[in-house]
Amino acid sequence: MEQTDSLHNIRHSLAHLLAIAVLEKDPSAKLGIGPVIDNGFYYDFEFSNGYTPTPEDLKGFEKAMRKMVNKGLLFEGREVSVDDAKKIFAGQPYKLDLINELEGEGKNLTIYKTGEFEDLCKGGHVENTKEIPADAFTITHTAGAYWRGSEKNQMLTRIYGLAFESGEALDSYKKQLEEARKRDHRKLGKELELFTIVDEIGAGLPLFYPKGALLRKTIEHFISEQQKKRGYQDIWIPHITKGTLYEISGHLDKYDAMYTPMKIDEHDYYVKPMNCPHFMMLYKTLQHSYKELPVRYTCTTTNYRYEKSGELSGLTRVRSLTQDDCHVFTRPDQIEEEIDLMLDMIKEVYAGFGLSDFYVRISLRDSKNKDKYIGSDDVWDTAENALRGIVKKTGWKYEEAEDEAAFYGPKLDFMFKDAIGRQWQLSTIQLDFNLPERFDLNYIDEANEKIRPVVIHRAVLGSTERFMGVMIEHFAGNFPLWLSPVQVKILPISEKYVEYAEKVRAELANADIRVELDDSNESLGKRIRIAKTEKVPYILVLGEKEVEVGTVTAERRDGAHLDAVALDVFISTITKEITTKEIW
Ligand SMILES: [Zn+2]
Ligand SMILES: [Zn+2]
Repeated sequence: MEQTDSLHNIRHSLAHLLAIAVLEKDPSAKLGIGPVIDNGFYYDFEFSNGYTPTPEDLKGFEKAMRKMVNKGLLFEGREVSVDDAKKIFAGQPYKLDLINELEGEGKNLTIYKTGEFEDLCKGGHVENTKEIPADAFTITHTAGAYWRGSEKNQMLTRIYGLAFESGEALDSYKKQLEEARKRDHRKLGKELELFTIVDEIGAGLPLFYPKGALLRKTIEHFISEQQKKRGYQDIWIPHITKGTLYEISGHLDKYDAMYTPMKIDEHDYYVKPMNCPHFMMLYKTLQHSYKELPVRYTCTTTNYRYEKSGELSGLTRVRSLTQDDCHVFTRPDQIEEEIDLMLDMIKEVYAGFGLSDFYVRISLRDSKNKDKYIGSDDVWDTAENALRGIVKKTGWKYEEAEDEAAFYGPKLDFMFKDAIGRQWQLSTIQLDFNLPERFDLNYIDEANEKIRPVVIHRAVLGSTERFMGVMIEHFAGNFPLWLSPVQVKILPISEKYVEYAEKVRAELANADIRVELDDSNESLGKRIRIAKTEKVPYILVLGEKEVEVGTVTAERRDGAHLDAVALDVFISTITKEITTKEIW
């Protein structure tokens, strides 16, 4: 959830204190900006004479800040004229840059004074530094950051700090970070042989090994089944298109993550960054009557987006992303029912992954900035009110976020909490009154009139890649049985039992269980260790006893044992666990 004002004020005040501490060490340091971020704050500096702070220095800053906190310094604000501000910040080129910009926007300038230190700032502080819990913050690390985020500008040093409302909250956040490091999907993806990213193919373009591909397929198959039972129909679309399509949709003007087009027969062709316009065209080419609406088209297909190289990360931020995309074309009177159907599916899907703690964010337009959106105010108001009403009816937790809508409609984002308490935005439902207009979509009503349908965009997983990254970390690689690439591993005690092991393998495979037989020459102990590092849910060790009576002995990943059970009993036990998507 959004941070409270008081937490915001604590974090932002600490940024000021950090600047004071830094200036004590390097009095001629130049100051950039010091905003609040979602786990604390940072401040950008240009140090003099090639100085960069060491880890010892960071500890020193933290100590100095703690002293200031205990001293009870006040934050005193006042408005100043542009000329006065320029005098005060005479030696500070970045502050002057900001002053010039604010002057251009005709904004009032405010300055906050803490002790002797003055900073240009629009406010949001504690009144007295004693309001900041002295054990609730820490300075963590530095990173390079260009002034104003542009490579054309000077590289500054960004110093980061964590800050929370209490020492306990800081500790639990640190524990969560540590746990997240252990579960890092990039590390587990390598260890479990799920996926790789190679320089020869490019950053942000993951490849999947057989086990990773199986995991993908299993997830996508689950989604596909859920859709089928709710009346969604599969379609298929190509991955490139003439620019004409994006002229109609408006993406050429408003969407900046597209790759440079290629020329084919004198036309510009684009690799698709999203699917909506393709879906619109497909709907448009057929005649539709009010009786056949809603039309629910779906396609799991890969998109290509230009994400900045510095922002790419494993599977969670990629340049090739596969969406479980769906576009529903409905009559206005069917919107609520359609969204209910989607909410029902989202709930059921996430229960299968053991994610039941979530809230909904209703993303609205920025009512002050109309250039960012297509479509009239009336259309927007109707769409926003409809979404608000539907969410309220569910009784689920929700929040409203201004300025988070897409340029063609407001949306619902579903924020799920994973096993270690982190929030992930996964599913999205988006109402769209604008694309149907641009594509001149219609259906024929009872009076034989052409009527505009409403489009609802929907993705349950968001992107398969990102979802997999999140799931790898959520389960720490210990996937539930139904998701595990290998569900059962068979280990014959020695060569003598390979024949029986092979028979067991064939029967499991026949029952659609993903099974592997390890009859390599390694010792049994070593083969067990390998199966455990692979996090296989069931290990079957077969020897004399099992062969004689035709049973199996199974060890479950969580330590539970199934001793000498008949093979058909074992098969029916785990088949049930698979179909009910049991999570241990
Ligand atoms: Zn401030
Ligand atoms: Zn769409």
